[in-house]
Amino acid sequence: MYLADMSEYQTRTRHDRFTWLAIGWLDEAYPFPTGSTPVEFQERLLEHCVRGVHALMTGYHTCQFCESETINEERTPKITRIYYKGKSYPTGNGEIWIPDGNIVYRAPVMIYHYVTIHYYQPPEAFINAVLHCPPPYEDEYQAFVRSLNDKTYDFTSDQTDRTDTPVSCE
Ligand SMILES: [Zn+2]
Repeated sequence: MYLADMSEYQTRTRHDRFTWLAIGWLDEAYPFPTGSTPVEFQERLLEHCVRGVHALMTGYHTCQFCESETINEERTPKITRIYYKGKSYPTGNGEIWIPDGNIVYRAPVMIYHYVTIHYYQPPEAFINAVLHCPPPYEDEYQAFVRSLNDKTYDFTSDQTDRTDTPVSCE
């Protein structure tokens, strides 16, 4: 699913007190901005992508940009994974939600992989929002989640071996 950065991404009308904006819904068909991003941003983003996952579904997507890189073929995993505190986690499933005033940015969990492996550079406003957002496991963030009648998924507290086969984007 491709969505332009900062375009409106509203699928839950009961949450209409916020403006929901899409970030990082990339597609091979559309070039994306690249460049460096602050390490503090990447570290905070990683915490959300591993410990504050919303909208979890069955199966996993693989990274379309890795799939197209034939030179990397042997080290490209079937399920795209990210690394947090010495463990690896699947990244092709779910979203992160980053509140900033009356805006909530919605990004795929794959965004951390895009930023760190493919040098995707999200808009400055999103980078700042992530830097100012509390970590997902803190009460302040969980209060935001509860206010939406939602809950987050923390991969680090998952006891099961999640080795689902990848699903295609089609
Ligand atoms: Zn990739």
